[in-house]
Amino acid sequence: MEKKRIIFHVDVNNAFLSWSAIDLLSKGYKVDIRNIPAVIGGDEKRRSGIVLAKSPVAKRFGIVTAETIYSARRKCPELKIFPPNFECYYEKSNLFYNYLKKYTPLIERFSVDECFLDMTGTNYLYKDYLKLAYKIKDDIKNIYGFTVNVGIGNNKLCAKMASDFEKPDKVHTLFLDEVEEKMYPLPVRDLFMVGKKTSEVLNKININTIGELANADMRLLKRYFKNQASFLRESARGIDFSKVEIRHSKNDSISVSETLAKDITSKSDLKEILLRQSEEVGRQLRRQKQYAGSVAIILKNNLFKSYSHQKTLYNVIDSNEDIYKNVLELLDEGWKKDPIRLIGIRLSSLSRQRNDQLTLFDEKEEKDNSNIQAILDEINDKYGDLSIIPASIKVSRFKGKNKKRK
Ligand SMILES: [Mg+2]
Repeated sequence: MEKKRIIFHVDVNNAFLSWSAIDLLSKGYKVDIRNIPAVIGGDEKRRSGIVLAKSPVAKRFGIVTAETIYSARRKCPELKIFPPNFECYYEKSNLFYNYLKKYTPLIERFSVDECFLDMTGTNYLYKDYLKLAYKIKDDIKNIYGFTVNVGIGNNKLCAKMASDFEKPDKVHTLFLDEVEEKMYPLPVRDLFMVGKKTSEVLNKININTIGELANADMRLLKRYFKNQASFLRESARGIDFSKVEIRHSKNDSISVSETLAKDITSKSDLKEILLRQSEEVGRQLRRQKQYAGSVAIILKNNLFKSYSHQKTLYNVIDSNEDIYKNVLELLDEGWKKDPIRLIGIRLSSLSRQRNDQLTLFDEKEEKDNSNIQAILDEINDKYGDLSIIPASIKVSRFKGKNKKRK
């Protein structure tokens, strides 16, 4: 028998919109955009302008995530549209993560606005966990000004399901002995990691609720889902042994640098060297079957003064393209325009895994419209690589199948 674990899933409510709202208020904007018909979205003039997040008021007008701004505008003429501010989201996401980190070292940053915390064996008494969850929820609201849902369960699946119950600003539990009562009545489509295709097949064979899946005939499931069948049924029963994974180990790094024959002051020359170096470290990274969570450029000027500029990525990367893109941003931000004698790249926070350990089914990205990561991916798939999404929080978690490698 497995020891009973206590897992928290903390999920920011309507992250992009709330974070933008707070940011605007802090800059003197007079209205809280959470209380008016507002959306975060792309450029209205571009056909590809699309709704990334909507306020509750906008929702009442029937506006949905991922529809075009054009169609949203038709539903609500007085709609206010704000461009996404990814820098702000990245910063809020870090505040959120750093706050939660106080409670356990076993924390997994699952997406830009979601973390899993393994609270097993911390010094809280069993019934205190609920109190703690309320404290976390209220603290975040009071300190940072946005609300979260906290789900508590004996594994990640149940914690995640629980945080998805009623929103916003709520704490819910879904312990194993509550699964039948709280999870079985839900439509099978709501089960964590069950995508649209899977749920359609399930509905076709007359399995409509999670409870029906939990009690389904194994031979029937095998016929349709092959070796995923038992995993599917276990999930419906609230069984999940996956661990809360800390993403990055800090120790390893891969770096390359080059002392230049003469001092370089031309940006395009530096870019050219960085391109070559990106390919080199990228190849090494993939040879080690690893992913990088941080990228840095290292510079030394003609006065032998060294400096570096680094960024931590929200999603780990391993392609030359992603490495180069980040490196260019770092060059833009970090280079002091002085003559450069040595230049290099360092990849660190290396990890063995992509962020997709929990992905059961290919179609996961279709699953949950409220999941920002999935939305961004969908948008990227639909419209190509949008420049509105910087590499720092671009999604790699679900990207396996359409990943380009040059
Ligand atoms: Mg969220």
